[in-house]
Amino acid sequence: MVNTATSLAAFARGKLASLDAQSLRRQLVESHRDDALWITRNGKRLLSFSCNDYLNFTQHPEIIEASIAATRRWGVGSGGSRLVTGNHPLFSALEAKLAALKGCEASCVFGSGYLANIGIIPAIVGKSDLLLVDELAHACIWAGAALSGARVIRFNHNCVAHAADLLARHRHDHQHALIVTDHVFSMDGDLAPVASLMDLASQHGAWLMTDDAHGLGVVKSDTNHVPLQMGTLSKAIGAYGGYLCASQPVIELMRNRARSFVYSTGLPPGTVAAAITALDLIEREPDYAALPLARARQFTRALGLPEAESPIVPLVLGEAETALMASHILSEAGFLVTAIRPPTVPSGTSRLRFTFTARHPEAEVDRLAALIKSRILSATAEHPLS
Ligand SMILES: *Cc1c(COP(=O)(O)O)cnc(C)c1O
Repeated sequence: MVNTATSLAAFARGKLASLDAQSLRRQLVESHRDDALWITRNGKRLLSFSCNDYLNFTQHPEIIEASIAATRRWGVGSGGSRLVTGNHPLFSALEAKLAALKGCEASCVFGSGYLANIGIIPAIVGKSDLLLVDELAHACIWAGAALSGARVIRFNHNCVAHAADLLARHRHDHQHALIVTDHVFSMDGDLAPVASLMDLASQHGAWLMTDDAHGLGVVKSDTNHVPLQMGTLSKAIGAYGGYLCASQPVIELMRNRARSFVYSTGLPPGTVAAAITALDLIEREPDYAALPLARARQFTRALGLPEAESPIVPLVLGEAETALMASHILSEAGFLVTAIRPPTVPSGTSRLRFTFTARHPEAEVDRLAALIKSRILSATAEHPLS
């Protein structure tokens, strides 16, 4: 008899050793985010430039109070799928707000952004359909694409001409066609050419879906009447959950056919209440919501980088090891900036990814930029990072 437990552990160890050899092994580090800005790790306090908490709402007193009040009133969990008994009264308030914000008839809230994408895409396209996806789209868009069974073709990043060429060649072989792109690219911080993609879609009888995970609340955008506007409540909103804003019939279809909606438990009341309060705050304080982008632009100006289009700024360094070394240098100086490596980004484009938040002190942004100039950008072949 073969000891399968032993062979399984050996299999896992082999896989991990190969990740180690490529500097691609990842580790969980316990992180104390006490104030949504500073993080204590391994006893060391670091100013974080690696959180997606752009408005520092994870620790906002008013949002916390709203969440606690909803938990007291409605309980910690929703108790079931929303189609069975999990549809507590806070969902309709949140969905109305999201739909109004995006200029759509209706919206539908999922358990997370990941769950939204793997539910929405297969509910729209299937075996006889064509799916065009930007090559840098988020991992969960690819997961949704694979689940759909559609013919999936990637187009060059933000290249409308390439997408046009693919549609011209392949559109007629398929019943429906869907173009999917991040609105704000999660690892590059640049924006999709949404208006041009909308024109392209209408020329070819295709539909467009945008993923605004990193834009909601912090990047002003004309929604351009995109018929499928997806996003998450886990970034600037500071809570958790995903959503789709669309026409009434499309949303009704999701409630019936998106498997991650039908077969997964509704979000907890406290989480939904937090998201509602966060959206209220953004509406009430637009100047505050503009701060993350202002800080990102302060940083790109200081370093002579292309002007930031969102609160995300990449500094591409190349090899995974180089990015790890650079991250270590910043950490020694009190900054938390995680190195982003394959498979999150294409190989050879390992990078530091900086995210700016409303409450980052301007002086610290300057200090960070100066340090990068003197210690990281000054590295050369003869004097590599060390
Ligand atoms: C983070 C992210 C998601 C996933 O959202 P979660 O709510 O964290 O599951 C989806 N798409 C993009 C572009 C993202 O950056």
